[in-house]
Amino acid sequence: MTTSAPYVSDRTTAAWQELDRQHYLHPFTDYKFLHAKGTRVIVKAEGVYLYDSEGNRILDGMAGLWCVNVGYGRKELAEAAYRQMLELPYYNSFFQTAHPPAIELAKQLVDLTPAQFNRVFFTGSGSEGNDTIVRLVRRYWDLLGQPERKVIISRVNAYHGSTMAGASLGGMAFMHEQGGLPIPDIVHIPQPYWFGEGGNLSPAEFGLKAARELERKIEELGAHRVAAFIGEPIQGAGGVIIPPDTYWPEIQKICDRHGILLIADEVICGFGRTGHWFGSNLYGIRPDLMTIAKGLSSGYLPIGGVMVADRVADVLIEKGGEFAHGYTYSGHPVACAVASVNLSLIQQENLVPRTRDETGPYLAKKWRELSEHPIVGEARSVGLIGALELVRDKRSRRFFDKRGEVGTICRDFCFQNGLIMRAVRDTMIIAPPLVITREQIDELAEKAWRCLDLTLERCRAEGRL
Ligand SMILES: *Cc1c(COP(=O)(O)O)cnc(C)c1O
Repeated sequence: MTTSAPYVSDRTTAAWQELDRQHYLHPFTDYKFLHAKGTRVIVKAEGVYLYDSEGNRILDGMAGLWCVNVGYGRKELAEAAYRQMLELPYYNSFFQTAHPPAIELAKQLVDLTPAQFNRVFFTGSGSEGNDTIVRLVRRYWDLLGQPERKVIISRVNAYHGSTMAGASLGGMAFMHEQGGLPIPDIVHIPQPYWFGEGGNLSPAEFGLKAARELERKIEELGAHRVAAFIGEPIQGAGGVIIPPDTYWPEIQKICDRHGILLIADEVICGFGRTGHWFGSNLYGIRPDLMTIAKGLSSGYLPIGGVMVADRVADVLIEKGGEFAHGYTYSGHPVACAVASVNLSLIQQENLVPRTRDETGPYLAKKWRELSEHPIVGEARSVGLIGALELVRDKRSRRFFDKRGEVGTICRDFCFQNGLIMRAVRDTMIIAPPLVITREQIDELAEKAWRCLDLTLERCRAEGRL
């Protein structure tokens, strides 16, 4: 295999920042604010570390955007892409054709996912996966002669992507405001966010209460109109909201009782993040549809999909008729080849049991120590996903006034101190690559503590406490 020199540019950081300002509209960005501040240019990554154009080394506590499960710089994935590009860089699966990478990946996924899943529909991303789900769910009920079952129930503060359907399923008010969302027949119930909304209830009581909101909504709408319920096993972008243990079993019961489809959006929880292959394994639920993306390829190439349980697939297949939906890049051969090798790496390196039995518990221990910091109200984690709640008063779980400002302060300190931790309002969140070592977890926790100290100091200076 020949290797060519990597892309090299002799532009300076300032020159890149200027070109970026002039030409590049970033996702989820306040352009005016970014242009004043200047973008940070990441040029390289290895393992769990990023390197910026100024030579700074940064511990990536977010695995990119929750996706780089096997870590950066994996030659096996680069070589898989290279080989597949030479063999068959592209072909579609529309017109009675397929190719080995998509077929092989489908088989691998069926073997890894819960038993009810024997089929997969490929997409280019998680958002496209959730769009596909809206189409699939409605087609399923149409084929069963119940076209009035259209409503999909989701949750406030859920994240299901950024396409029109994805953003509608999501429960982010600031996204709904832009573009007249949600689209019809998508409704939202409260989230199982005990720390923020649990009041005087115990987590167990609150978990049941939050789950029963689903039953209330079904009764309000009439079960004959409800098609499905969708949820992330652990809400990611909403602030790593880990539901009380009572929550999911109750949701499963309610879905069963009313015969509605259960959809697990596993885009973040899937592929080992929680120490189980899927969040559905962790919580013991039996979804009928599962959205996958992110960790599926560890972010090396864009690919997502929908796992379709027999209950749904059998109807689609037996009733016949074309499912009029698909993407040019559904089952893209290069993305599939890379995803296959990625899944094999996760297996060969035992990253899932390692997360469950070693690194996850170790992170939990280091994380709990952070809850002793004066501005941390709660430190929670499962596997290698976690959150810190920054609060004004620990005991009463009282948040800072002007929610979100302190989180941003802390996030900026993290950046300056070589750590990526993301802020959701005043909740600091992490989801590092699953290859992270104990020593690197120590480094993460030490840096986090230092940044919490700096944040506390700033809060005192600004009279926020
Ligand atoms: C990121 C994410 C999505 C959207 O995936 P994209 O690949 O960004 O379209 C959907 N659901 C969840 C839970 C996510 O975290």
